[in-house]
Order: sequence, then structure tokens, then C-alpha cells
Amino acid sequence: MKNYPVKKNQELEVDILDLSHEGNGIAKVDGYLLFIENTLPNERALVKVLKVGNKFGFAKVMKLLQASPDRQELPNEALLRTGIAPLSHLSYDKQLAFKQQQVENVLAKIAKLPEITVNAPIGMEKPFGYRNKAQIPVQKIHGELTTGFYRKNSHTLVPIEDFYIQDPNIDQAIIKVRDILQRFNVKAYNEEAHEGFLRHIVVRRGHHSGEMMVVLVTRKPKFFKGEEIAEVIHEEIPEVVSVIQNINEEKTNVIMGEFERVLYGKSSIDDQLLGKTFQISAKSFYQVNTAQTEVLYQTAFKMAQLSENDVVVDAYAGIGTIGISLADRVKEVLGMEVIPEAVNDAKANAKRNGVENVHYFIGKAEKIMPQWLREGIQPTVVFVDPPRKGLDASFIETTAAVKPERIVYISCNPATLARDLALFAEEGYVTKEVQPVDLFPQTTHVECVVLLERG
Ligand code: SAH
Repeated sequence: MKNYPVKKNQELEVDILDLSHEGNGIAKVDGYLLFIENTLPNERALVKVLKVGNKFGFAKVMKLLQASPDRQELPNEALLRTGIAPLSHLSYDKQLAFKQQQVENVLAKIAKLPEITVNAPIGMEKPFGYRNKAQIPVQKIHGELTTGFYRKNSHTLVPIEDFYIQDPNIDQAIIKVRDILQRFNVKAYNEEAHEGFLRHIVVRRGHHSGEMMVVLVTRKPKFFKGEEIAEVIHEEIPEVVSVIQNINEEKTNVIMGEFERVLYGKSSIDDQLLGKTFQISAKSFYQVNTAQTEVLYQTAFKMAQLSENDVVVDAYAGIGTIGISLADRVKEVLGMEVIPEAVNDAKANAKRNGVENVHYFIGKAEKIMPQWLREGIQPTVVFVDPPRKGLDASFIETTAAVKPERIVYISCNPATLARDLALFAEEGYVTKEVQPVDLFPQTTHVECVVLLERG
């Protein structure tokens, strides 16, 4: 066995030198890295080694010997243990500085754009209680159906009632739904045995509308007293206008299955964004921080310098929130999205808001863009808002071939953003402005909006 400078269960004093992108403090022992939860740079702690890996190890704090002035009081240790709010021990202005630094680092290292200035992230005045969606696993603990969150890197449930970053109305709803399910003797799913019934409780609440949706994810289609339970949920939480059963029979970490049925009320809820109304179905993507999404979109629209002759592409469109919000200012919007339910929402949303110059299509952006190129469609501005894995390289090539004046890239992952900016640079598109907007306070997630112009 290799000789490491530390041993499992060893206790030692260390200085914290840095903060990892996951929000753990980093210490060095004879060049060997230790990652330590609930520590910050410039702190000193007595720690106990938990795990010794090949390249690095993990330790936990036994005693904090010197605290950083940047530390803020931790609302609840479980927020770190579960990874719900891994930066909740760091003061908010320092969280924003940390995120700015992360973006600067990847732009310099991955995109080879060290000269680009990254604007200071736009933060929230009250950086908690913001999430409009919760996906809560359930487990049987001491014979009772319990709600909480998984401990990091495990599927052990840590019971939690106050999730801190979620809309407090959602926290309250989860407790009530849990109590109702207990009363009806609904069995919690057991992952190891692939037995039991209820897997997850998903709750969404319109930030402006207050309308709530409860999705009960079950292992089997047959739901004894399902409609009655849904009725009681609505009676006890009148804001709930939609209760849906989603069926997921697979042994999988994916939360929702393919099939769903309405147990009570509507199949979607409404919310408003920038003054327009949007319907949101259970499977559709909707940004989790509504107030900051409005800031994000306004920043993106300003960068796009929209004018009435613009033909705009809304790629990775979700339920059409970007295209429909800006439609009044431009000639036409064309959008695409892979999830059929979301495109269905996008079409209904255009109609609801009386917006006639937007057209949404089902399909992958990298498949539809080349079709549009062949058809001779000439967009002047392209918005892209991909998931964490970023853009497909072929999409970048075709988009460049279409020659839009400006591309506005909204990204939830700085690493893939940086990779894609480098590819755009090869195609002659210059990165002009990088503006992080903090959509996820207390977490390590970083959202950015970037302006690219044809050089
Ligand atoms: N612009 C929307 C949605 C952004 S989330 C908003 O602001 O709310 C990213 C969306 O891209 C998701 O709805 C996802 O279903 C969709 N998506 C993922 N891969 C895609 C692809 N290859 N082509 C088109 N859409 C895709």
C-alpha cells in the first residue's frame, strides 16, 4: 500500500487554504489535499480524517480553532451534509465574489480568454426562500413516511423540514402532504428492495400567482384512494390547484417516469414572468428562482439590443419564456425544445398572451438549426439556454453559418460555457460581455449571460 501523509481516523490541525468549487475547504498536508466540509479559507481547525483516497482525502471538523471573518452563522448543519446549501456558511457578498472568481478562472483556463472582464454577479437582496420547486425523496424512518434530503454521495435520508432556500410555502406544503400521506398509510418506497410505493413528492409554486402543483411519484400505477388523498391535499392547502400522479416503475435515480395522470384539478399551474402569464406542466423546465430569472432575462434582452426588424431564435426554449417575453419588440421568434410537453406549453403560452409572431418546434436544436439553414431562414439574434452539458459542437457550427449579428448565451455551467465560447471564437464570434446573475444563492451553482458578436 502507498504511503500517504495522513491515515484514516487520524486527528490533526490544519490551515484552510482555499475553497473547492463544491464549497469544501481545502487543506494541504505535505502536498496531499484534504477536503473539509464547513470550513473556509484562512481558518484553522482540528480535523479528523474520514477517507484517504489516491489523490486526495476527506476530513471533518472536530473543533474550529480560528474562524474566518467571512463566515456567517450556519442556519442548519443538514444544509451542508445534504449539499442543499453548500455555501450557507459563507457570507453572501463573499459567495458572489467566489462565483465571479470561478467564471474568471474557467474563461482564462478553458476558453483562453484571460483578457475578458467578468462583471460582478447580480445578487439577491434576500438570498434565501427563493426556490419555486422542491423534489423531495421520502423514506420510511422509525416506521413513518419521512421527508428530507439525501446525505451527499449517498441515499441515506436526512429528515429536514426547513429547507431554507425554498419558498417557505413549499416547506409548509411538504409537511402537510407528508402528514396526509401518513394518515392514509401510504407506504414509502424502499430503493434497495425496490418495494413500497411513494418515491418522491415534487412541489411547484408560482412565485407571482401562488398556484401550487403537487406531484406524487409512485412505483406502481394503482394508487389506492389516490383521488381522495388529492382532494384532501387541496382542502388542507387551498393554493394547490393541481395534484398529479407520476409513475416511475424503474430502478433509477431519475425522479419522474414517463406516465402521469391528474388526480385533482388542472394538469399545469400558471405563473407570471415580466408581466406575461405562463402555464407550466409537471415535466416542463421552469427556472427555479423567478425573481432573479426576471433580472437574468432583462440583462439578456438588453445585451441583445433588440429592434423591430430582428428575427430571433429561442433555442432550448423550455415553455417559451424567453421568446414570448421579448416577442413584442421584434419581427419574429422561432424556437425549439426537445420535450414535447414543454413545446405544448410554449404554444399555449403564446396564445394566452396574444403573441402571434412566435413559432415553437419539437426537436433538438442541433437537428433543427441545419434545417433552418437549408430553408434560408436568417435570424439576426440567437438566444441559447442549454442544460449543464452545454451546446453541441455541430450546433455551434451551423449557428455560425447562419451568421446572426449577435448570440446571447445563457449558461448554468461555466465550464461548458467556456468550452463553447472557445468554439464560437474559432467561428469568428467574439465574447463581448459576461454577466453572472445569482440564481442559486447559498449553493455553488453559477448562472451567466454572455454576449457574442460577429467579428
Ligand atoms: N429557455 C428556457 C429553458 C432553459 S432549460 C427557460 O429559460 O426557462 C434548457 C431546456 O433545453 C430544457 O427545457 C431542455 O428540455 C431543453 N433541451 C435539452 N437538450 C436540448 C436540445 N438538444 N435541443 C433543444 N432543447 C434541448
